[in-house]
Amino acid sequence: MADPFTLPPLPFADTALAPVISANTLGFHYGKHHKAYVDNLNKLVAGTDFADMDLETVVKKAGSNAGVFNNAAQIWNHTFYWHSIAPGGGAPSGKLAAAIDAYGGLDKLKADLGDAAKTQFGSGWAWLVSEKGKLAIQKTGNADTPMARGVKCLLTIDVWEHAYYLDYQNRRPDYVGAVIDKLLNWNFAAENFAKG
Ligand code: MN
Repeated sequence: MADPFTLPPLPFADTALAPVISANTLGFHYGKHHKAYVDNLNKLVAGTDFADMDLETVVKKAGSNAGVFNNAAQIWNHTFYWHSIAPGGGAPSGKLAAAIDAYGGLDKLKADLGDAAKTQFGSGWAWLVSEKGKLAIQKTGNADTPMARGVKCLLTIDVWEHAYYLDYQNRRPDYVGAVIDKLLNWNFAAENFAKG
């Protein structure tokens, strides 16, 4: 039988995000780390009920099964991150632009997202989320994800060291600042905001 979970393709060429994120970083981050989560999850779920669930359901139902939760959530988080960044970035539009105005403006939102990404202690993620139509910033540790709690995610930034160490070494704030200024995919955020 085929493995239930697969590594989705990157939505851009591995050279497309340079110089903010190099092809070298993507080669390890996508080709090694993201792939390993997929390989690990397939081994862990073989012969279990999880093998028949979609990935979001696995994340929500994994409960105290830390191996399944960590690998499933990391697959989902990484796929979401690859879509949260794009060459050229773009600008918020439509209902999302109005929600950003209600939040306090794009500069404030970017500053708050940056603070969350820089201050997440250790490995984790910074998130732009929507709670009942209102924008909010969250940060999570390790594999944890707001999606597990049914929160609608709009964008994320990976702040595990493997996301930036080859390009920025210990300078996480430089990586975070460059991603926010140059790569955030506001079209993806708008699509997520418009859903259900
Ligand atoms: Mn990562």
